[in-house]
Amino acid sequence: MLNGKIALITGGSRGIGKEIALKFAENGATVISGDLIDPDYSHENVSHVKLNVTDRENIKEIANEIKEKYGRLDILVNNAGITRDSLLQRMKEADWDLVIDINLKGVYNVMQGFVSLLLKSKASSVINMASVVGVDGNAGQTNYAATKGGVIAMAKTWAKEFGRKNLRSNAIAPGFIETNMTHVLPEKVVETVLANTPLRKMGDAEDVANAALYLASDMSKFVTGQVLRVDGGLNL
Ligand code: NAP
Repeated sequence: MLNGKIALITGGSRGIGKEIALKFAENGATVISGDLIDPDYSHENVSHVKLNVTDRENIKEIANEIKEKYGRLDILVNNAGITRDSLLQRMKEADWDLVIDINLKGVYNVMQGFVSLLLKSKASSVINMASVVGVDGNAGQTNYAATKGGVIAMAKTWAKEFGRKNLRSNAIAPGFIETNMTHVLPEKVVETVLANTPLRKMGDAEDVANAALYLASDMSKFVTGQVLRVDGGLNL
């Protein structure tokens, strides 16, 4: 489905990003995974580069490397993200700043760094990893929800800004997916989430990777500016 496509995934070392990198690679893409730490996997179609989404110089270097090697980029998945949860009255300014810096400004940094390469592709696809909380809100996640609402707004903006150049831009809003990010949640929170999920289970990273494969491929060539929820029906 992605034969001949060049894809960059931020935060591809583990969790959802790793699953997307492997899914794209299995479907024929040449994948560049931007990692902070050394990943615990390897695949012949996946190369790993050190990429910190908060470091604009670092982003410029990687963009130059991709330009020299491939001359273009077809798929960008803005996946890197963190949480620093607490109720608003206890939320430290440092935790607000850090989450905004990585999850929101990081997406701006990366898109700005790679957009000229994406525009060299005949048909490019950008996927911003949002969250259902960016649409619905969530107690204890003022910082995180703000960033996820923000990346949805950016995906829609880029759909409008670059559509005439055949660059598509969409967001995925996962519900609760089993990764390191959700392993730290208290049992009570998980119980409440499951009670509000019609499918009565958490998703896995492959559920999100399948949605990313659809949005990255020509299967979705007339789909842009959308938010695809992958959430088991949470909050319906
Ligand atoms: P995860 O297992 O904690 O992985 C987070 C990834 O982000 C890691 O690869 C990490 O890299 C990377 N990262 C963090 N800071 C970075 C930085 N400054 N520069 C580059 N990479 C950085 O989390 P996940 O669950 O897979 O989450 C992936 C995305 O899905 C996030 O945007 C998250 O908000 C979103 N999401 C997750 C869920 C869920 O239930 N899990 C639900 C909705 C949305 P290192 O490993 O190198 O540190």
